[in-house]
Amino acid sequence: MTVQATAQEPGDVAVLGGGIAGAAACVALARLGHAPLWIAPAKPAADRIGETLAPAARTILADLGLATLLDSPHHRPANAVYSAWGSDRLTERSGMLHLEGPGLVLDRPAFEAQMRAAALEAGAQPIDSAVNTVERAAGSWALTLADGQRRTARFLIDCTGRAGMLARRLAAHRLAAHRRADRLVCAHAFLRQRDNEVEPTPATLIEAVADGWWYATLLPDRRLALAYFSDPDLLPRGLSRDADSWRRLAATTLYIRQWLDSAGYSPDTPPALASAGTTWLEPAAEGAAGTGWAAAGDAAAAFDPLSSHGITTALWSARAAARAAGSALRGDIEPLAAYADAVARGVADFRRQHLMLHARETRFADRPFWQRRNGGGYAAAQQAASVANHS
Ligand SMILES: Cc1cc2nc3c(=O)[nH]c(=O)nc-3n(C[C@H](O)[C@H](O)[C@H](O)COP(=O)(O)OP(=O)(O)OC[C@H]3O[C@@H](n4cnc5c(N)ncnc54)[C@H](O)[C@@H]3O)c2cc1C
Repeated sequence: MTVQATAQEPGDVAVLGGGIAGAAACVALARLGHAPLWIAPAKPAADRIGETLAPAARTILADLGLATLLDSPHHRPANAVYSAWGSDRLTERSGMLHLEGPGLVLDRPAFEAQMRAAALEAGAQPIDSAVNTVERAAGSWALTLADGQRRTARFLIDCTGRAGMLARRLAAHRLAAHRRADRLVCAHAFLRQRDNEVEPTPATLIEAVADGWWYATLLPDRRLALAYFSDPDLLPRGLSRDADSWRRLAATTLYIRQWLDSAGYSPDTPPALASAGTTWLEPAAEGAAGTGWAAAGDAAAAFDPLSSHGITTALWSARAAARAAGSALRGDIEPLAAYADAVARGVADFRRQHLMLHARETRFADRPFWQRRNGGGYAAAQQAASVANHS
């Protein structure tokens, strides 16, 4: 992959955050001729939950000149997705979740490393530090970094994920609103097979249960990613410290339990917990001629992972935010407003689909998890969240 970068003065634009959105924003900026300052604390490769890549990501990666990343043997095709959702019957579900057909199951650390390498090769100027503070001065942003450095940039792209470093600061100053639809949380673990006698099925399985839903997928290295999604008040107490409780919880499922047993996987260590709710920033970008900011990836909109949209949204929004930033630096701020509108429309579409998908599950209509996400209860909760964020 070769990117022609006619570097402008470094510091024109700074990208905060070293995840997929940050790397994609850097590649897109480099293709426009910028040499973005990339403030991204380096981290050792580590397991990370979230490995399903929706097919739509292929087009965006190709447009960034990164199509070949997906040819790597690290990743496997996601050709079988089954679900027990709205019924006790197990059905093939790929059409329901992915209109474009099957995607990929990524080796997530490998993919993040590929994206990072691509951003560096494209010409991003990396700084291995976190951003501590962001202040707006006349016509530029002043950044203080965790290692004590100070930097300035005319345009900032916030790709700091759910932490939303700049996004939350703008919200605190009432320059934007950080909204939340729910408090979904994910308990997850990566399981190894007890022995290699059984060839595990390369599949993904989703199962709705009374207080949430489960997700299991075979990773390219034969481990099984196992995740349970629920609300914090509905999780068994102390789950993240208690392997017995985690095993008991998995044993209450119909299909997940069968898959674990038949393929020889056992949830022997307590799960890690991660926030997984739907949150977004309004607006996702703003600017004046020659300056401004945009949020991309989870910092702009983080979705309930049921959709497996997160990585694709990170790629799409980073590319769009980078292009809008390039225009703003040249004095045209229209694309920034168009970008903010597109993010808002994407959030609205997602919430409509999310509501419809949860309305399909009627077996647990009396349970709080489903009541919070269905019909009036869900809409009322969203309304309440929106009011709370405004007040
Ligand atoms: C449980 C779960 C399962 C998921 N499963 C899927 C899935 O199967 N498929 C899918 O497509 N998506 C999935 N997602 C969503 C997907 O992982 C995210 O949407 C995606 O990682 C967003 O990328 P990002 O670059 O915006 O954020 P992140 O990947 O979170 O990256 C943000 C980066 O910013 C850095 N950072 C934070 N604060 C600062 C600071 N102050 N200064 C500098 N850097 C900072 C962080 O260290 C991090 O490197 C899942 C999410 C969850 C929670």
